[in-house]
Amino acid sequence: MGRIFNFSAGPAILPEPVLAQASDAVREFAGSGMSLLEMSHRDKRYDAIHEQVRAGVVETLGLSTSEYDCLFMGGGASTQFSLVPMNLLTPGHSGAYVDGGEWGAKAIETARFHGDVDVIGSSKVDNHSRLPVIGAVPSNAGYVHLTTNNTIEGTQMSNVPTFDVPLVGDLSSDIFGRVREHAHFDLMYAGAQKNAGPAGVTLVVIRKSLLAQCNSLPPMFSYRVQADKHSVYNTPPVFPIYVVGLVLEWIAAEGGMPAVAARNERKAALIYKAIENNAPIFSAAVPDAADRSLMNITFRLASKELETEFLAEAKANGMDGLPGHRNVGGCRASIYNAFPEAGCKALADLISDFAVRKG
Ligand SMILES: *Cc1c(COP(=O)(O)O)cnc(C)c1O
Repeated sequence: MGRIFNFSAGPAILPEPVLAQASDAVREFAGSGMSLLEMSHRDKRYDAIHEQVRAGVVETLGLSTSEYDCLFMGGGASTQFSLVPMNLLTPGHSGAYVDGGEWGAKAIETARFHGDVDVIGSSKVDNHSRLPVIGAVPSNAGYVHLTTNNTIEGTQMSNVPTFDVPLVGDLSSDIFGRVREHAHFDLMYAGAQKNAGPAGVTLVVIRKSLLAQCNSLPPMFSYRVQADKHSVYNTPPVFPIYVVGLVLEWIAAEGGMPAVAARNERKAALIYKAIENNAPIFSAAVPDAADRSLMNITFRLASKELETEFLAEAKANGMDGLPGHRNVGGCRASIYNAFPEAGCKALADLISDFAVRKG
């Protein structure tokens, strides 16, 4: 069967050259006579890649490895919901959280197990269909936490604000997807499986000066220990890290993150334009264009029946993964970095064609 257009929100599409190289490495890695799946994480040949990917993550974000360290951790972004307060929250302080969507809300719910939380901005009253306005940061705040791209609701921040306390960002669904002031962040984390690689590794990029301020914790939970040990305190997820490295090479070959981000703008515009031109059968779930995500395009049809029919037509035309998140319904087109422009064009055409037939 030919390759379909995979609009899945995550795990998500990977570039075809990456899949080809990854397949090769499963059979035999770099003339070693063994699969990369069989190779020790202490092997010099793997270690070279490990260090290359650690640096590559930081550099692809436009940051310097003299200022930032990259850690590879397990447990997905959801584990970071705990590790952030465990490492950064000290007695007498609270975590200041922005509630921009379901993932931000989960980060808040989890942080409350570890200490005090203040919510400094929320768009919950609007079902998170817009970006929240961020209010004042309490004087006892230890850090601010926000989500750059709200995967489920389809909103995305373009500008990164600055604060007097460390800024923590959950970049799980738009890391490497948009040019922004990453240097405003002191800590960024992302489960790899949306825009950076396969499931199984979580990228944590931390400002080195913040490491000294982190709480002392058991080694596996400690950013400082993980940084000291270059994320080989224990066995790291070797294969997912390798694939993240291949994705970084692919980004570079595509012209670097700015080029990929510019293509993301074009891709998203194709679909948003089709939705807007075909009102009222189609409507964007995020009313304010400035808040709309380039990664996850959420939209609705005029009735549940039309929606079911549209999704079935899309699937019959090789477009998969378009139903919205189970909690919000509607439709969602996730068009991460590796998603081809041709697939966005195909969806835009189907939207227009469907609206003409039903109009
Ligand atoms: C998917 C997602 C998560 C959860 O990631 P896991 O790696 O599955 O724990 C957290 N935050 C955001 C913004 C996400 O999109």
